[in-house]
Amino acid sequence: MKRAIFLDRDGTLNIDVGYLHKLEQLELFPWTGDALRLLKRAGYLLVIVSNQAGIARGLIDPKFVEVAHAEMRRRLQAAGADLDALYFCPHHPGGSVPALSIDCRCRKPSPGMIEDAVADLGIDPRQSWVVGDKWLDVQLGQAVGAKSILVRTGWGAQQEQDRPQGQQVDAVCDNLIHAVSVILGGTP
Ligand SMILES: [Mg+2]
Ligand SMILES: [Zn+2]
Repeated sequence: MKRAIFLDRDGTLNIDVGYLHKLEQLELFPWTGDALRLLKRAGYLLVIVSNQAGIARGLIDPKFVEVAHAEMRRRLQAAGADLDALYFCPHHPGGSVPALSIDCRCRKPSPGMIEDAVADLGIDPRQSWVVGDKWLDVQLGQAVGAKSILVRTGWGAQQEQDRPQGQQVDAVCDNLIHAVSVILGGTP
């Protein structure tokens, strides 16, 4: 069984611009390549799990998500940190595109994307981590028995101030490179 880092995308790997819908808006954080390369070198698979409700809302062309992910991989490959898989949820119950406006099994914090990755890639979620800038990322990790980290980039600093009652988390970190030091060092 393999270990993986399940990565939120917007606000965790790249600047969250709202609904990313053109390539000029795609800006990785300066540390993202280094962070992912360190995780890869430590033997973790790198898997993006991203809610893209803008597709259900008609604000993002689903084909653009593929273009953005190809460009992201191209930049990360150059940093020696290629991704192993990318999953995204195009749904939202309040969307405007009828076929996508459903209560799906994959919109975080529902675990559908991780369940698919576990089946596709042979991952043990209990040896894996979820890293993201929202509590729903942390809750996703908890839903599958993974450890989870909230990063303060993107929405994270605000989310930290707005912690749901009783919400647990393995660590809160300044950014992805700090999260890597926790994952690899074993101490929060
Ligand atoms: Mg995010
Ligand atoms: Zn979905």
